[in-house]
Amino acid sequence: RARQLRQSYQCYLHGQDERHLRHLSLVRDLQHAASNGEFSLRYQPQVSALTGRALGMEALLRWDHPRLGRIPPDEFIALAERSGLIHQLTQWVIDTGCQQLARWSEAGLNVRLGVNISAMDLQQPGLIKRVERALDRHGLRGECLCIELTESALMESPEMGARKLQSLRAMGVELAIDDYGTGYSSLAQLKRMPVQELKIDKSFVMQLVKGSEDDVIVSSTIELAHHLGLSVVAEGVEDQTVADHLAEQGCHMLQGFLISRPMTAEAATEWLRSRVG
Ligand code: C2E
Ligand code: CA
Ligand code: CA
Ligand code: CA
Repeated sequence: RARQLRQSYQCYLHGQDERHLRHLSLVRDLQHAASNGEFSLRYQPQVSALTGRALGMEALLRWDHPRLGRIPPDEFIALAERSGLIHQLTQWVIDTGCQQLARWSEAGLNVRLGVNISAMDLQQPGLIKRVERALDRHGLRGECLCIELTESALMESPEMGARKLQSLRAMGVELAIDDYGTGYSSLAQLKRMPVQELKIDKSFVMQLVKGSEDDVIVSSTIELAHHLGLSVVAEGVEDQTVADHLAEQGCHMLQGFLISRPMTAEAATEWLRSRVG
């Protein structure tokens, strides 16, 4: 029994070591990923719940490691945050996203782009300037951009957060609370932030059943958001019954595999064309 325990503990340690080594080498490789052209963006549509019209796209970062293949963003974003590389990644996403927005706009495809920003980005002094420069460089109005922040990012340093978000708002940039419902903040607290939009976390939406506990949470969130004058997006919409139900509850926008999986820039352009023409 003791030997068995020791063996499984060594196994565990070995597993820990391996994970640690993987992380170290990922952090090392992450530094050159952008200049090596290993990053790309996928775009996932956000449509009007009432009309199905395309209103926006969310930019989702992908990393194709030359040796290890596709690394999930949940893994490398956390590593980028811990190693301080996140600012570089965010910069790349904002630049690349704005460039794509400009292309779409030239082609007469007018959508808004959602970009994910981490808590650490908000604490960095250069963020506002970088957003401003990216918009300028591509001749875009601030209204074209929606910055998605999680509740926890917002509540980490409320005063500084609020000040920075005000400057982004002054540029016309829209602000959304991502993964709403997974944190511990109340909508009342969040309302003090200059946000216009709420994204209900997909964990409440994916298996939404009428009358369930999830349904109570989702419906009351939508109602409260209406009262506070916020627009509501549901993410993780995977089937039509859920989409219909959300529309009935007054949810404004839908995003999820039902509408489309995240697409390459080319596929997203085709998708937008087919919705317009
Ligand atoms: P998120 O911002 O909550 O993005 C939504 C995630 O849900 C995406 O996963 C998307 O592919 C997935 N999704 C969308 N619709 C559905 C659906 O109907 N069903 C299911 N099961 N999933 C759906 P992805 O692309 O793997 O990204 C995971 C997370 O990584 C994101 O969650 C975000 O927190 C982070 N992330 C992705 N790109 C960036 C980025 O450029 N910067 C930062 N800071 N974080 C990013
Ligand atoms: Ca998001
Ligand atoms: Ca989310
Ligand atoms: Ca998330």
